[in-house]
Amino acid sequence: MKRILISGGAGFIGSHLVATLLELGHEVICLDNLVTGTQAAVDRFASSPRFSFISHDVTQALPAIEGELQWIFHLASPASPHYDSPISYHALPMETMLVNTQGTKNMLDVALAKHARFLFTSTSEIYGDPLEHPQRESYRGNVSTTGPRSIYDEAKRFGETITAYYHRAKGVDIRIARIFNTYGPGIRPDDQRMLTNFILQALKNEPLTINGDGTQTRSLCYVKDTVKGLIRLMDQDGLAGGVVNIGNPEERTVNEYAQFVLKEIGATSQPNYLPTIQDDPQRRQPDISKAHKLLGWQPETSFEVGLRETIAYYRALLGPDSVPASVPLTD
Ligand code: NAD
Repeated sequence: MKRILISGGAGFIGSHLVATLLELGHEVICLDNLVTGTQAAVDRFASSPRFSFISHDVTQALPAIEGELQWIFHLASPASPHYDSPISYHALPMETMLVNTQGTKNMLDVALAKHARFLFTSTSEIYGDPLEHPQRESYRGNVSTTGPRSIYDEAKRFGETITAYYHRAKGVDIRIARIFNTYGPGIRPDDQRMLTNFILQALKNEPLTINGDGTQTRSLCYVKDTVKGLIRLMDQDGLAGGVVNIGNPEERTVNEYAQFVLKEIGATSQPNYLPTIQDDPQRRQPDISKAHKLLGWQPETSFEVGLRETIAYYRALLGPDSVPASVPLTD
């Protein structure tokens, strides 16, 4: 059993990570200020004697944590890129820049003091609008340092920089996971990420919002697969300083995702094409050969299965009234 500190454990990926680590028998301490996470996400662990929650902003001096820690996962950061979302990094610019810079330093200092292994959740966004396809870890990216997305992209790049520095200069055993788009049950409805929007709109039989002509691609990884990849990257010995892509290489156009959702729900909504968003990447696809080679990891959940589980989550959240009348409630 390991004693594990997680920042951002009340968020989407973080709460799935907490659930899996508790299932594996570990002890988990979660630090979160709920800026984009929810109390409900952590309340479901409250009955576990191996779980504790500290309400705290990790950009501020951290509270003393008694006892040993073996692993530290630093996930805290707003993650949604959508301008309309109240919890996107556009709505929370200073919070996003600080949590990935000062917050990362604060978490690294705990790792240094506790001799704990440290994993930073970086992002495919550090590749920007990529000129290399698919993206390997060696690709250095095509990022605007001043564009609207730089709030997140550059903060994450600095997060990687300081994490690598703590390894090089201070000997901390660090790992960097570059997570590509992840989906699944638990994403907040106001997050406005593509699949969340499509499902909620289809469940209400409303037009599906598509920015651009829908031919841009996305590669989506089911959250349980992402979490398995993160745990494997943390668990494997001999990988100190390693940077690994965690994502699903199955690439589809935005139009194809929309069609999948409509078919699965049985809705008759039409696409509503809106202008392209500035700096929106046209293609995104991870090269995961490094994860496969080093970790023996690759996504296992088919999109059909992951989508069904995600739809079931939002259907339960919205209640039966929101399901198109033509669709029988079979699940
Ligand atoms: P999320 O917004 O659902 O979760 C982030 C959590 O961090 C929330 O619970 C939030 O309250 C917490 N948090 C933010 N700032 C904090 C602070 N200063 N102090 C304490 N807690 C704070 O996001 P997510 O989708 O679960 O993403 C988790 C991590 O994975 C993020 O670092 C994100 O950048 C990264 N990531 C996510 C994706 C994705 O597709 N979801 C893709 C690439 C990278």
